[in-house]
Amino acid sequence: ATKTDPALAPKAQIKFNTLKMSVKDVISLFETQGYKFIDTVKYSEFQSKLQHKSKKFGLDTDLTDLLVFPSGTDLILHELYLNGSIILQDKASCFPAFILNPEPGSTVIDACAAPGNKTSHLASIMNNKGKIFAYDLDNNRLDTLIKQTNLAGCNCIEARCSSFLDIDPNSAESAKIDYILLDPSCSGSGIVSRSNDLVDSLISTYIQDRKFDYQIEVQTQIKPNSATRIKNLSNFQTRMLLHAMKFPNVKKITYSTCSVYHQENENVVENVLSSQTDFKLANQKLVLQEWPKRGEQFKSSDNLTPTETSPSVAKSVLNNLNKDEQCSLVRSSTEEMYTNGFFVACFFNKNHFNKTEYIDNPRRKIT
Ligand code: SAM
Repeated sequence: ATKTDPALAPKAQIKFNTLKMSVKDVISLFETQGYKFIDTVKYSEFQSKLQHKSKKFGLDTDLTDLLVFPSGTDLILHELYLNGSIILQDKASCFPAFILNPEPGSTVIDACAAPGNKTSHLASIMNNKGKIFAYDLDNNRLDTLIKQTNLAGCNCIEARCSSFLDIDPNSAESAKIDYILLDPSCSGSGIVSRSNDLVDSLISTYIQDRKFDYQIEVQTQIKPNSATRIKNLSNFQTRMLLHAMKFPNVKKITYSTCSVYHQENENVVENVLSSQTDFKLANQKLVLQEWPKRGEQFKSSDNLTPTETSPSVAKSVLNNLNKDEQCSLVRSSTEEMYTNGFFVACFFNKNHFNKTEYIDNPRRKIT
């Protein structure tokens, strides 16, 4: 089977927006429209329970606010999507907000927020209580974030067009930040879920704002990846993550990419662990413990163009994470988990937690 095989295509996944409708009401509405609810569905049961384009759906077993539909289900014109009650989102990209899990009333930065899928997820987890500062460099994408999050009924978000790197971590406002979700620009090499069905309906359907969201998402994927591009991205991602770690009272940070490359994932984690001492990886038991696909060792196949020598690649070979650290990381893939390729790392500020909650390994400094 290839990635385009419908059986392997990521399942259509919708996150229900608890700010607008209860789970029960969303399920009932789909049932009145001829869909059959089959209770919970584990990723390993997708093939047997959710046949391509059948009208069955179920609750995801890993995430509490996700419904799973068979691949080929087209919900882009569904009334609940158009009115912001549900959000179409790949399961793996729901992981960062779910793992960060900011409590209601807290103050959160979504550092690279547009078009806002994770921002609305955070607002829903926080039940609109507290504050989310949503930063993005790109004004057009930020406009989409504002429209999307308003439609979803979020009222605790302040959108700001600025580089996250320009935010002074030592300001009075920065001292109030409890959580940071960092989902920076990446190679997009893991993305396959703009399935042909979804893209076809995008082309054939004219719904101005919603169509625009998908155009933005699709556009981000068409740049070719070279070893140099991946190296530049890896350096940028490391810088962004180290900047997040400068906010003095941040308790927890999630770092995520939709990249399959080690250089943008484990290698970034390794670099930040070796460059500062306050933040440690969260223990596996606190990061989707039952999820079987975890961080990986660097493999020679991760090297994009073997002829090109890349210092960051060489470093990652020398400084691989140990087993505990790899196990605390979350990966996902189309072939095994029926999602986009995705990666999440969760860091705890060791000054706020006890030792059983993070992995306390002495690390060698990268010079
Ligand atoms: N988190 C978003 C979501 O779930 O909808 C997707 C974020 S996308 C992967 C990365 C975003 O980072 C882009 O919108 C890009 O404009 C933004 N970005 C890139 N560099 C940035 C920076 N220095 N500061 C803030 N945002 C940045």
